[in-house]
Formats: sequence, structure tokens, C-alpha cells
Amino acid sequence: MVEDIGKVTEIKNRIATVEIPQKTTCSGCLAKGICFPNAAGRNIIEAENILDAKKGDTVKVSVRTSISLKAGLLLFILPVVFFIAGFLLVQIFVNSELAGFGGGIVFLIGSFFFLKFLNNKISKGAGFKPIITQILRDMKSYIDPVCGMEIDKETAPAVCIYRGEKYYFCNSNCYEKFIKNLSFI
Ligand SMILES: [Zn+2]
Repeated sequence: MVEDIGKVTEIKNRIATVEIPQKTTCSGCLAKGICFPNAAGRNIIEAENILDAKKGDTVKVSVRTSISLKAGLLLFILPVVFFIAGFLLVQIFVNSELAGFGGGIVFLIGSFFFLKFLNNKISKGAGFKPIITQILRDMKSYIDPVCGMEIDKETAPAVCIYRGEKYYFCNSNCYEKFIKNLSFI
């Protein structure tokens, strides 16, 4: 399970568009260089809005990876299982290894169609879609616009006001990066 924190920018039916900073740690932010709100390089994720989040909410988004792992495993194991099953089944009725081998091949081909059918079914389901697992409505919860870290507004070490909006930062490094970036505009 991969988790990310981002801001809901749009709600359409039960799908929420969530903007997620590419890096969620300060160290990653340092490696990446300067970033600021709405800059390119932010990830847009479409998540299932099962908790009824509103536009502007800060939310936690989870992507289930275990299902795709299982699907990957199935992709390798299923054809083998089908081949053996076909081989044994034909050998029971026709006592010939060659016929059994043929049966195995037929079942092997069948397994690919079965996998294709399964794949269509899984990708249509909600399993692979990111899901909003938590709404961080608490006013204290805030995302550092530079590094994407979740911080507390009240204890934020650095604050700045830009074009009427208040921005909070996890440390002075992020604050300075933000300020430096503004001077280029
Ligand atoms: Zn930061």
C-alpha cells in the first residue's frame, strides 16, 4: 500500500482529483531543487472519493499495490497450472504423453484468454484505483508547499504571506527556497 498526502482540486461524481507534491520529504525536496505551489512537477491523481471529501480538503490517498502484485504472480503461475491440468486430463482419457502434451498446449492457450478476461475484469473494478482513506480536515494539518511535508500551522517554524495567502514551512530551508523562487517571478 502506497500512501500520499495531497489537496483535492476537483470533485466529479465519486472521483476526486488530488494534487500531490512529487516529494513528500524535505531531503527529497533538496535533491529535487526548488519547487513552489502549482509549479509543474506535481502529481495529479484521480482517487475514489469514498469518504466524501470536499474541494480544498487535504486528504490521504492510498494506492493498493498488493492486488497488482497478486495479478503479476497469477500471470506466471496460471499458464503453468493450466498446462499441467491439460496434460493430466488428456492423459487420463488417452494414454499417450504426446496427446497429453497437445492437451497441455490447448489449455495453455486457453489460459491466456482466461487471463485476458480476468485482466479486463480487474481493471474495470476499483482494486487498482487510488482511494481517499483519510480527510485531514483539522486546520492544523497543512502541506509545506516546498517539500510537501505535513506540518502543523501553529508550530510551523516559518511563515510567509504572498499575494494575500499565507504559506507555512517545515523549516527555514524550505522558506528560503520559496522566497528565492518568488524573486524570479
Ligand atoms: Zn519543507
